[in-house]
Amino acid sequence: MPKHSHPSLFEKSEQTSPPRTYTRQGLVVREVKCKSLLNRSPISEYSFNPYTGCANGCVYCYARFMQRFHPHEEPWGKFVDVKINAAEVLARQLRRLRPGRVFTCSVCDGWQSLERRYKITRRCCRMLLEAGFGLNILTKSELVLRDLDIFQGQDVRLGVTITNPDESQARLWEPKASSVWARLKVLRQAKAAGLTTTVMFGPLLPGISDTRQALHKLFTLAAEADVDRIYTDTLNPRPRVWPSVRQLLKRKWPTLYDHYQRVLFDRAFRASYQRKLNTRIRRTAEQLGFADRLLGT
Ligand code: SF4
Repeated sequence: MPKHSHPSLFEKSEQTSPPRTYTRQGLVVREVKCKSLLNRSPISEYSFNPYTGCANGCVYCYARFMQRFHPHEEPWGKFVDVKINAAEVLARQLRRLRPGRVFTCSVCDGWQSLERRYKITRRCCRMLLEAGFGLNILTKSELVLRDLDIFQGQDVRLGVTITNPDESQARLWEPKASSVWARLKVLRQAKAAGLTTTVMFGPLLPGISDTRQALHKLFTLAAEADVDRIYTDTLNPRPRVWPSVRQLLKRKWPTLYDHYQRVLFDRAFRASYQRKLNTRIRRTAEQLGFADRLLGT
């Protein structure tokens, strides 16, 4: 769930021999060793990423910038480096770090498909909670429900990202993420388990999921799941995002192509777009009685 970066994300691994590499359903997987895991983060106090790369392969993913620092031959979404020594490294770091909130995760989905096999995110979450840290989780995977047993009764805010209420459109933008329906199930079950729940509506896609109708649908879904905290985000012109967004637009929404260019690259247009979008978001939240749960807009 990419949001921000930190210099230690760019550290080279401490790999001394070639990593074990295999291919699984078109995904190139490498088992690597990391030097540090828990980073200082501008979003929470800390963040950690047990994987480099994300098999969810979202078209708008901001974490694509990671490829500048961790070059891979494969395109984004087609490789994942698994930090197989993550728990050992975390144990070492926990001996000297003051507890705080940990954003889980900032440049990958901690519950992407490989986590079913490796259980690294689960192990690290357990260690962090036992050491007195709190977790701010953001995922697009229903696999996170596997770990409710370790979250229950702990300082955990469990959130999912939803960018579009339409399942078939979401599949185009987030090819390997769980369905929207499954993500809503995560919110409902987390709430029933007594956790604070969060939904991130973003990035809202101009002309697709930022419309009055789509926002109404999104906030209605949030109301049905009785979500505690709602955030929104706008599509950003982060490095490497536009080429993949452009490709999908040309294929599926050619009439929106010029609009996206203006939203992303015309400074004055973008400022006005952002103001109008914020107004639509706030009005929708008010109509559905959710204004007090809308944060940061
Ligand atoms: S879930 Fe999507 S947006 Fe988040 S890190 Fe993975 S590919 Fe990027």
